[in-house]
Amino acid sequence: MCVKPAYRFLYDGFTKKTDDTSRSMKTLRQLHFDNHYAKLPEICFSEHAPQPFENPHLVHFNADAAALIDLDPEQANTPEFLDFATGRQLPPGCRPLASCYAGHQFGQYVPRLGDGRTLLLGQVRNDQGESWDLQLKGSGTTRYSRGGDGRAVLRSTIREYLCSEAMHGLGIPTTRALCMTGSDEEVYREQIETGAMLLRMAPSHIRFGSFEYLYYEERHEDLRTLADYTLAQYFPDLLDTENPYLALLDSAIASTAALIARWQSVGFAHGVMNSDNMSIHGITLDYGPFGFLDAYDPGFICNHSDHSGRYAFDQQPGIGLFNLSCLAQALLPLIAPEPEASAEMAKQSLDRYQSFFIDAYSANMRSKLGLRESHHQDKALCESLLDIMAASHADYTQVFRHLSETDKLDTLCDLFIDRDACKSWLHDYRARLRLENSEPEARSRSMKQVNPKFILRNHLAETAIRKARDENDYGEIDTLMRLLKNPFDDNPSFDGYAAAPPDWAKSLSVSCSS
Ligand code: AMP
Ligand code: MG
Repeated sequence: MCVKPAYRFLYDGFTKKTDDTSRSMKTLRQLHFDNHYAKLPEICFSEHAPQPFENPHLVHFNADAAALIDLDPEQANTPEFLDFATGRQLPPGCRPLASCYAGHQFGQYVPRLGDGRTLLLGQVRNDQGESWDLQLKGSGTTRYSRGGDGRAVLRSTIREYLCSEAMHGLGIPTTRALCMTGSDEEVYREQIETGAMLLRMAPSHIRFGSFEYLYYEERHEDLRTLADYTLAQYFPDLLDTENPYLALLDSAIASTAALIARWQSVGFAHGVMNSDNMSIHGITLDYGPFGFLDAYDPGFICNHSDHSGRYAFDQQPGIGLFNLSCLAQALLPLIAPEPEASAEMAKQSLDRYQSFFIDAYSANMRSKLGLRESHHQDKALCESLLDIMAASHADYTQVFRHLSETDKLDTLCDLFIDRDACKSWLHDYRARLRLENSEPEARSRSMKQVNPKFILRNHLAETAIRKARDENDYGEIDTLMRLLKNPFDDNPSFDGYAAAPPDWAKSLSVSCSS
């Protein structure tokens, strides 16, 4: 039996962080809901009512995400909000639907996936005119559940909730988490767990697979309608280009390359980079068995079910290109009337992905090393650091953060088993720094803005999950939310959260089961 826990609201960070204090905050009733996705052809979605849990309770509410839709955070305390966040009672204008998509899963095309446990409730437009999708995950079965129970468990919901906000704190584009609710309803996975729901937000949840579905079903007119809708709603500037459909592909290529360059430089592995988990906006979408690197291992596989290592950390940039080529294939009928011309244009666009990625990744890594200028030896300098980190199993985040403490460079080698290799690298690094003569204090300040001290290490998420699951204590979730919101701050009283994983965490494994 789950005892409803006392929930603490902590708005201190929120009031400090809101830049536009003149913005008027609204009650749930004052928000204007709509669902423009429901205007797409019927093949694109299926309407369903959410299937609520008995006796749900709020696990956590994220005032920062609420601010994006002008929602007053005090609303979290109201029964109306709980009814909304658990799908029991939806405000007027909501029109819950499961969207239909397909996708390449582990390289194989799967003809019909769709939202099997998620409903798009609708969109809210904020005072700035931005439209935000509100999607409820864990809300019960849909036409696309394919034998699944339509539920999400508390464990995986906490992981997505924490990670999406941690990614946002790192400045990495992502879906956002508005709130999480729990229940005492049993959900069966590898063991019996309790069900939970996540209310998440994004400009849209349109995936590469949304286009693939219509392409492979040979519904090319519907495909055009979806592309026109995507352009008009989210990329109106592209409508003025010579070929808007090609421009949509180009936009996905550029934003995906930039996104994966951010993942690689912060040490994030997504775990299930199927094309149905890739956003047309180039934001991180669908958190499952993700993982941040602890000890640097380029071949790190965070998904226990990924036996071949298809989605290993160092494979992500290449998989990004594979997924973009799936999207390009789906857009071919729109790009040009003649198949050869269309394929040639798409190919030319895809050919640019590699240089977009390399340029973005190199710039990120130069900033992480505190280098303002670009010199020919930088690539080798960075690669040799990564090589010695891999050989010494050095902690990825700690090494770069330590490097940012420009007055403590000598102690960097304490993080390496092979101290001589580290000393030799430091010798080259100092020589490189002399070329641009940067002032150490200023360099340290800027490096600390790109080298986080705190990331959502697996063991930190696991501790929060265990406290929530076993003791109904959500305090650790709240602590992590506040800490990871500002991962670049020193926060010395939280030094323990920056440590490498303890021994008990080494055997943790994460699978797709969520
Ligand atoms: P994911 O791994 O969460 O990206 O999901 C892959 C596909 O499986 C999507 O179509 C999901 O909607 C579906 N799915 C995942 N878990 C469930 C579940 N418990 N019940 C129904 N469908 C699910
Ligand atoms: Mg998915």
